[in-house]
Amino acid sequence: MQILDGKALSIKIKNQIKEEVSRKKDSGASIPHLCAILVGNDPASETYVRNKIKSCEEIGFKSSLFRYESSISEAELLHQIDVINNDPDIHGLLVQLPLPKHIDVSKVVEKIDYRKDVDGFHPMNIGRMAKNLPCALPATPYGILKILEEYNIETKGKNCVVVGRSQIVGSPISILMSRPAYPGNATVTVCHSHTIDLASYTRKADIIIAAVGIPQLIKADMVKEGAVIIDVGMNRIDDASKKSGFRLVGDVDFNEVKDKCSYITPVPGGVGPMTIACLLLNTLQATN
Ligand code: NAD
Repeated sequence: MQILDGKALSIKIKNQIKEEVSRKKDSGASIPHLCAILVGNDPASETYVRNKIKSCEEIGFKSSLFRYESSISEAELLHQIDVINNDPDIHGLLVQLPLPKHIDVSKVVEKIDYRKDVDGFHPMNIGRMAKNLPCALPATPYGILKILEEYNIETKGKNCVVVGRSQIVGSPISILMSRPAYPGNATVTVCHSHTIDLASYTRKADIIIAAVGIPQLIKADMVKEGAVIIDVGMNRIDDASKKSGFRLVGDVDFNEVKDKCSYITPVPGGVGPMTIACLLLNTLQATN
C-alpha cells in the first residue's frame, strides 16, 4: 500500500505558485488577490477562512476578508458581492459556507461573477466543467484529480464508485471521473443515502471516492483487494488522549483498509490540504 501524500503535494503546488507570483512581481504584472466573505462567527468557518488567508500570505497573494454579522440581509450581501465583482483589483471571491438560514445560497453563488468564482460553484463553471471546457473546477474535486495525476494512477476504463452526491464533492467528482480526459474515462457509479447495499457497489470498485461525512463508514470487507481509496471525509470524533478532546477521521476505516488497498489518502494529510492548494490555483488562473 502506498500513501497518497496530499500534504506534500500541496506544498509542492504552493511553492510553484509562489515562484509564479514572484515572476509576476518582477514583471510588474497583477498580483493575484483573493477576497473571502465570512458571515457570522461559526468556529469551523473561522478556521477555514483563516487557513485560506494564511495560505495566501505564504505564497505572496494579496488577500482581503470581508466580515458581516449573521443578521446581514440577503439583499445587502448580494449588493456587497456586486461591489467586489466590479473591483478590478480583486481576482477571486469566495463566500464561506454555510450561510445563515435566511440567505439563499444559490442566489449568493449565482451573484458571484463566474470569472472570479474560485470555488468553482457557479452554474457557469459547473456547466463548463460538464462540457469539458476550461473553467474553475470545484477545489476539492480538483485536488483529487491532482493527487491521481501526481501518482500516475490509471483511471481509464476503471470502475470508480463515488460515495456521496453533494454539490461540492460527490456530484462534480463523478462528472470529472467520467470525462474524456485524464484523470477520467472511468466507468462511474454514484452511491448516496438511498443506495441499497452500498457494499455490493464498493466491492466491485477499482477506485473508491468517499465523500459522505460518516466516520469510518467504509470497512475492509467493502473494499476489493488492490483498490485505490480517496477519502474526502473529515469527521471529528471524541478522543480523550488529545488536548482538543477530538481527532479527525475519514469516511474510510484507514486501519482496516490500509493493508487491502494499493493506494490510500490519509486523514488528515490527504485531500484536505489539496483543497486549499487548488483554491489558490484557481485564483492564479483567474488572474491570468
Ligand atoms: P454532504 O453532507 O453535503 O453530503 C453527503 C452525501 O453523502 C450525500 O450526498 C448523501 O446522499 C450521502 N450519504 C449519506 N449517508 C450515506 C450512506 N449511508 N451511504 C451512502 N451515501 C450516503 O457532504 P459533503 O459536503 O460532500 O462532505 C462529505 C465529507 O467530506 C464530510 O466529512 C466533509 O467534512 C468532508 N469534506 C472534506 C473536504 C476536504 O477538503 N477534505 C471538503 C468538503 C467536504
